[in-house]
Amino acid sequence: MKIIDVEAIWLRVPTFSERCEWGEDAFLVKVHTDTGLTGIGESDSAPAVLKAMVETPSSHSTSRGLREILLGENPLDIDRLWRKMYHESSYMGRRGAAIHAISAIDIALWDIASQHYGVPIHTLLGGKVRDEIAAYGTFIPKDRPAENKKLVEGLLESGFTALKLGGGLFGTDPDHDHEVMRVVRDTAGEDTGLAIDLVYQWKNYRYAKTQCERMGEFNLDWIEEPLPSDDHLGLRRLAENSGTRISGGEGLSTVAEFSEFIRDSRPDIIQPDITRCGGISEIRKIHGIATGFSTELVPHGFSTGILMAATVQFLASIPGGDLIEFSQSTSPLSLELVTNPITLVDGKVPVPDVPGLGVDLDEDLIAKYRVEMSVGSPV
Ligand SMILES: [Mg+2]
Repeated sequence: MKIIDVEAIWLRVPTFSERCEWGEDAFLVKVHTDTGLTGIGESDSAPAVLKAMVETPSSHSTSRGLREILLGENPLDIDRLWRKMYHESSYMGRRGAAIHAISAIDIALWDIASQHYGVPIHTLLGGKVRDEIAAYGTFIPKDRPAENKKLVEGLLESGFTALKLGGGLFGTDPDHDHEVMRVVRDTAGEDTGLAIDLVYQWKNYRYAKTQCERMGEFNLDWIEEPLPSDDHLGLRRLAENSGTRISGGEGLSTVAEFSEFIRDSRPDIIQPDITRCGGISEIRKIHGIATGFSTELVPHGFSTGILMAATVQFLASIPGGDLIEFSQSTSPLSLELVTNPITLVDGKVPVPDVPGLGVDLDEDLIAKYRVEMSVGSPV
């Protein structure tokens, strides 16, 4: 079997372009083979940049476009191809966008292998250890604190027993945040798991420590990205001195970067995104490092049903993979791109046992939102 094309697809929903609602665009890849099998992957990143990573003609031996690297290769050689892509894009890659694009391709290769062998991806990953995964719902809080009551009630009605909030104004004003949390905790009750996501907004260690203490009364499961991932000293001091678990890492990629993060920032929980960190292949290695250094792994995931399907397969195969993020985005890319999405059942997502990712794409929706742009010329 040979790879005959790597199709990089940029989708953008015009009505979402005015303001980021976490779902305004998406980047997909389709890896086509000469047997007719096609693998699907995605990355939650900047689609135009990733499209360039795939399509760019080669500049020299370590700045090669990913499509060129893969043409004619056997898609079943996943690990070898990952290393080849990493090495031959290393001058423009090693971290960030290049690894995001590699993540999408890696997921597509696992999709192909799983279909080829006729077994679920979790079987190829070593075997399923759970049939369902508890999900927590992530939402952007309303600016007016009282309006969050109805929002939280709706989420609890849909079955969630754990919630996370972040984005919008949250994190910019401690008094406002406190009011929001009071409404959310009072509505959710003491038995609902609650976490908050600061998206780096807590300025510095001293400020963050004060806010952590103030949030103590809400009995949070974790505090996510209170400081930037590069502020290793601040995060480490916070993790050592906070009564609440500190998490982060959704923007990091590769086992190398997560090794540094765990070593220097000492988070309680790392949150690699399978579509950014290097795909299914790399998140397995990241999980190994985390396990060896007493760190939990709860993946980030807030995109389409492709990300969800890949994350479920990975979590189904690892010990401790019992919590998954469940997007509340109202974007059509989140809700409609995959026509047979994994859905919530009593606050949990079932683990599919079909070969491949098992996602069917709405090709009409892809045609509707596809942005036509090509970098370089086809090889
Ligand atoms: Mg986050």
